[in-house]
Amino acid sequence: MRKKLVVGNWKMNMTRAEANACVEAIVNNVEGSAEVGICPPYLAINGVAKLLQHSDIMVGAQNVFWKESGAFTGLLSPNMIADAGCQLCIVGHSETRGRFGKVEVDASTLGYFAETDHTVNLKIKALIYQSIIPILCVGETLAEREAGQTDDVIARQLKGALDGVEGVEFMTGVVAYEPVWAIGTGKTCDTPEAERVCGFIRAELAEIFSWDVANAIRIQYGGSVKASNARELFTQPNIDGGLVGGASLNPQEFLQIVRAASH
Ligand code: PEP
Repeated sequence: MRKKLVVGNWKMNMTRAEANACVEAIVNNVEGSAEVGICPPYLAINGVAKLLQHSDIMVGAQNVFWKESGAFTGLLSPNMIADAGCQLCIVGHSETRGRFGKVEVDASTLGYFAETDHTVNLKIKALIYQSIIPILCVGETLAEREAGQTDDVIARQLKGALDGVEGVEFMTGVVAYEPVWAIGTGKTCDTPEAERVCGFIRAELAEIFSWDVANAIRIQYGGSVKASNARELFTQPNIDGGLVGGASLNPQEFLQIVRAASH
């Protein structure tokens, strides 16, 4: 039986003092059976990890570079985020892939700053080596959905990201289905379609690994999850919780979403 997992992605929000206040409001009031994670901005990770050290709430980073050290100005390695207290790390988020829905990043710049399936794969391997749980984000843009390419895009992202990864290494890993057009837009993918795509992801994982592994991997839905829609989404058989952006910035709403995952 998979345990639900709700992770807040704070993106580029919160000073360290705001982050500490928010996490205190969460840790002092959290209830229910779901596992919880919080991904603050880098500078707040260490303070948040200290506040959470006696709780079951996990701390995560929003991105990572795959090298251990070296001349990579501005980047952080898996061992650095582990040292700061991270147990989780998001990879392949549509914002770090540079796939902001309407505005596609020019292909010529992809190698410089936007993640590709290949760099997502390198990050996943580096995180596994450091025993950090990767949260692999996949999802289609609006243009891809309208062209009927949703399943093909997701299959390609999964195969690319998990190339050369063993099932036993990714069993504790997480996949987040995040349709790009639903992120930060207030538009949620309707529940039957979110469940269909999460079921498709599980079948693809079974093809890449095995059904045993696919049935162990948590698949989250992300994209305008709120207290008002969380329960309906999280009661679907293939949706094992959520990756929550905007609504995770409000501790009361985030706590309600965590409660919605406890059933
Ligand atoms: C996200 O950033 O992963 C996300 C799902 O954002 P939001 O909940 O704001 O749509």
